[in-house]
Amino acid sequence: DALGPTVCVGEILVEIVATTIGDGFRTAQPLVGPYPSGAPAIFIDQCGRLGGRAAMIGAVGDDDFGQLNLDRLRADGVDVSAVAVDRQFPTGSAFVRYRASGARDFVYNIATSAASRFGWSDAVEALVRRAGHIHVMGTALSMPSAAAVIARAVEIIKARGGTLSVDPNLRKELQLDVGVERQFAELVAKADLLLPSGDELERAAGVEGEAAALEKLFALGVAEIVLKRGANGATCFSRDGSRLDAAAFVVTEVDPTGAGDCFGGAYVACRRLGMGAEQALTYAAAAGARNVTVRGPMEGAGTRAELDAFIAATPRR
Ligand code: ATP
Ligand code: MG
Repeated sequence: DALGPTVCVGEILVEIVATTIGDGFRTAQPLVGPYPSGAPAIFIDQCGRLGGRAAMIGAVGDDDFGQLNLDRLRADGVDVSAVAVDRQFPTGSAFVRYRASGARDFVYNIATSAASRFGWSDAVEALVRRAGHIHVMGTALSMPSAAAVIARAVEIIKARGGTLSVDPNLRKELQLDVGVERQFAELVAKADLLLPSGDELERAAGVEGEAAALEKLFALGVAEIVLKRGANGATCFSRDGSRLDAAAFVVTEVDPTGAGDCFGGAYVACRRLGMGAEQALTYAAAAGARNVTVRGPMEGAGTRAELDAFIAATPRR
């Protein structure tokens, strides 16, 4: 942590959630929100809230949705000096409604919003030059502006002795264009820590089977792989062959969105604060589980005291 803050680059959004279960948005219906959101923003918010030094690179519009995000990130200790305010485009948004099956319908405005319209700036340069760690969300790579900032930031941060974590955040079925796929593979090969969930492990490795995927990724130079398994908990695999399993906390799931991002933000914050993998895994599992008990994608992000209280009060599977 002495090297400087953890930075995350990508989309900053508001999320507006349907309060009833059903199919999509073709009829008028009750909604609740706006909530601050965007996977990279949720990650960095949990990181900051837990006391890790944290900073965000991205953009919001010059509107209330943007102000809501800036206020929340600041309140949770995140440095927003490299978040641009776009005077022309509105803050990005996502409307989400859950179906009875648990599947989700979305209406997004990201590509044509401030969320994807930022680039390298003096503020970004100044932040990256003092950063010690960068976290990359796979989804951010599909925004060309973010992809370019990520490529340059990773190079600078790694060159000054910093570290890289990657949450693939890309379902296996999702086809990326060739350039994005190549950048993703390059980032995986440079990563110190990977945080895949489910079949993203195989996707990141490009091979079938958990054992083969782990072997391939460790051969590429990844030091630690933390596999997220939703309500089944998580496992940390280390290059030295050790394995740590974290049982999930028993909670009532109200809103699953953001669990993986809070998990990652907590894990990276704890490791960079000097904790061992086992303790970091406990905080991460607690952060993910606590977040699903609250409606809104980052509303359940916890402080260290809140997570300690949650850990003490919540049984594990
Ligand atoms: P996201 O849907 O945000 O992309 P993800 O797929 O990246 O999430 P998950 O595995 O869903 O990640 O959640 C991350 C971690 O949070 C899990 O490994 C687990 O520790 C915790 N978690 C998530 N959902 C639950 C749950 N229903 N009960 C208990 N713990 C949970
Ligand atoms: Mg995920």
